[in-house]
Amino acid sequence: MIVKPRVRGFICTTAHPPGCAANVAEQVRAARARPRLADGPSNVLVLGASGGYGLPSRISAAFGAGAATLGVSFEKSPTESKTASAGWYNNRAFEQQAESAGLWARTLDGDAFSDELKAEAIALIKAEMGPIDLVVYSLASPVRKDPETGELHRSAIKPLGETFHVKTLNVDKAEVHEVDLEPATDEEVAATVKVMGGEDWERWMAALADAEVLAPGCQTVSYTYVGSELTWPIYWHATLGKAKEDLDRAAGAIAERLRPLDGHARVAVLKCVVTQSSAAIPVVPLYTSLLFRVMKDQGSHENCAEHVQRLFETQLYGGGAQRLDDAGRIRMDDRELTDVVQDEVKRRWSEVNSENLDELTDFAGFRHDFLRIFGFGVPGIDYDAEVDPLRIEPQGT
Ligand code: NAD
Repeated sequence: MIVKPRVRGFICTTAHPPGCAANVAEQVRAARARPRLADGPSNVLVLGASGGYGLPSRISAAFGAGAATLGVSFEKSPTESKTASAGWYNNRAFEQQAESAGLWARTLDGDAFSDELKAEAIALIKAEMGPIDLVVYSLASPVRKDPETGELHRSAIKPLGETFHVKTLNVDKAEVHEVDLEPATDEEVAATVKVMGGEDWERWMAALADAEVLAPGCQTVSYTYVGSELTWPIYWHATLGKAKEDLDRAAGAIAERLRPLDGHARVAVLKCVVTQSSAAIPVVPLYTSLLFRVMKDQGSHENCAEHVQRLFETQLYGGGAQRLDDAGRIRMDDRELTDVVQDEVKRRWSEVNSENLDELTDFAGFRHDFLRIFGFGVPGIDYDAEVDPLRIEPQGT
């Protein structure tokens, strides 16, 4: 079949197999070009490994340190007539790259929130991997079934307290307009904390510790976003921020549990990038388009893979001092939050409208990054060529 992007709002319902394979290959090449992480991990579990921040974390561990990696994700398989989700192709492409480099790699596709998947992962770690020395928690999901009660919780992306009147960007129509975002109810806040808070991270770490599959000195990191006052009303001071605050509580509890192993648990604050999850948050596409313009102009922009590479090289490994804030979080958003970046983003924020969108922002870069997630717009890929949705073989092989 010939696969073209089919974008509906903030999702693309098709994915291009050779395009996804080329994305993974590019990230692998970039990781290999870096100096090897001398004190890097040996056995790594990545939860949410198929895309966004999880995939480059897996790639940094595998190709930056030679680690065996077990990835967990929730992706849709292909059929003869329908493409898989992009993450499914990414996983296959990663596994092929790992195999040809002689690296152990397995991926479990299923519900990471369930006890069954945790048990499956632990059985695999015991049978085929050594003790785990790094657990990356990079899940982003709108729903979570509580494994104890069976209740399905749905997160809500809403402000707290009062209606938030704000500029936003209709990505399909390339239009800047103003919206009223209604505040969350107490139930919606609680549900968002259930889905995106620290409970499941704690459950994973407890299950791994109880099964005695964690190595002495192991570390675990969970990703978060803080942002600036432009996004606070819909992120940090909103339902998602409440959930992310709960990660700080969980980090403390996990660190306590890991103490006998001399292990560590940290939350890492990462920069704003374009992923399937971030594209769905109101206000964020406009903020991201402005931020990218300013950071690219100032020479401080990093893409998702470069950012994670810096996290691994300077904060998780490398022996240098960690850049921690008062809450003990690793701050990787240092470049995004400098005054020189934020002042310029704020200045442009007040001026931006549908007419000057391309002039003041990097909306083109936002759109490009969004389509790249699904394997589209990759240089060298022939998008008019027939592809087999069941396979990820790169074009020309
Ligand atoms: P993403 O949507 O790109 O990736 C989410 C991953 O979670 C995918 O691998 C998906 O398959 C997996 N997943 C979802 N539900 C699952 C389930 N039930 N079981 C197993 N796997 C499941 O998201 P992302 O933007 O990379 O977000 C990852 C983390 O990074 C989140 O904690 C997010 O808050 C954080 N973060 C993101 C940004 C950003 O700008 N995107 C910035 C800072 C921090």
